[in-house]
Amino acid sequence: MKILANDGISPSGKAKLEAAGFTVDTTKVAQEQLENYIKENNINAILVRSATKVRQDLIDACIDQIKLIGRGGVGMDNIDVDYARSKGIHVINTPAASTRSVAELVFAHLSGMVRFLFDANQKMPLEGETQFKQLKKSYSAGTELQGKTIGIIGFGRIGQEVARIAYGLGMYILAHDRSTLSETLEISFSDGQSISTKVNCVSFEEVLQNSDFISIHVSGAGQTLIGEKEIAMMKDQAGIVNTARGGVVDEEALLKALDSGKLRYAALDVFVNEPTPAMNVLMSPYTSLSPHIGAATLEAQDRIGEELAEQIIDLLAVEAE
Ligand code: NAD
Repeated sequence: MKILANDGISPSGKAKLEAAGFTVDTTKVAQEQLENYIKENNINAILVRSATKVRQDLIDACIDQIKLIGRGGVGMDNIDVDYARSKGIHVINTPAASTRSVAELVFAHLSGMVRFLFDANQKMPLEGETQFKQLKKSYSAGTELQGKTIGIIGFGRIGQEVARIAYGLGMYILAHDRSTLSETLEISFSDGQSISTKVNCVSFEEVLQNSDFISIHVSGAGQTLIGEKEIAMMKDQAGIVNTARGGVVDEEALLKALDSGKLRYAALDVFVNEPTPAMNVLMSPYTSLSPHIGAATLEAQDRIGEELAEQIIDLLAVEAE
């Protein structure tokens, strides 16, 4: 069977598929050439990330050949999933592969924020030589993460991984999820030992009122969870981290709260108007920013390729017998 990995696949994923007898083609075929390429090269499965679109017209055109569509990553907005499934085509993705990567990015932002590194990294090249003492003074009121409370809104895969790391740092956890009352977390150490601990979820309001930092990990696009009213309920000088979806935090309300000193800092990996975020969000002196790189680690790429390979082997190797 032949697989076209149109947006690439990790070497480890490719090797796994090839070891199971699949042929993996990593040619990057232009969107408008896909139909011809799939037909001429007898492709049976197509793997995409977010760039390639697999819409109804392509599915119809290649219905006799394509048995599986795979999305490396979470969101499947670029695939007509229901239509493909209604035609008997397997549609798979890898929702867990980037969990750790996103959770670690939360702490990259948090650790930097509490010591003002986002600002220091910009000012040191410009003023470090002439204003060293002044800069040192302006960043002298940093804080530690240990002993602080992190509020986690959305206690699924990533929210739980954030909690595991937070426990390791000696933080307190307040978690809220609309459909989870409690979770028992397994925390593994590099020496092979592990412990398990139960987290009882609390109300949204309790998280808002009692957290030093709030990190958002809800699923689902389009909902604004934190606006002016919710920010007013938060502790003074708290921080917010949003790696979930642009707009889950109302950007205007956030900027207002940062400018007024109600909130001390915020970290954003996702933005309302990607890929052209609002300039006033980008220019805020209180924000630690990254361009939607939560899932972008080499380890996650490997896991994505390997998870796709395992599912394909399970689904298609059996059919090929
Ligand atoms: P998940 O489905 O495992 O967990 C999401 C949790 O949020 C669920 O338990 C759900 O019940 C809860 N939830 C949904 N809406 C809620 C609400 N209004 N109030 C309270 N709880 C709510 O998802 P996940 O894998 O943990 O991903 C979480 C988020 O991270 C998603 O929005 C995803 O798009 C985002 N994400 C971002 C990146 C990035 O690059 N920044 C990468 C991967 C995922």
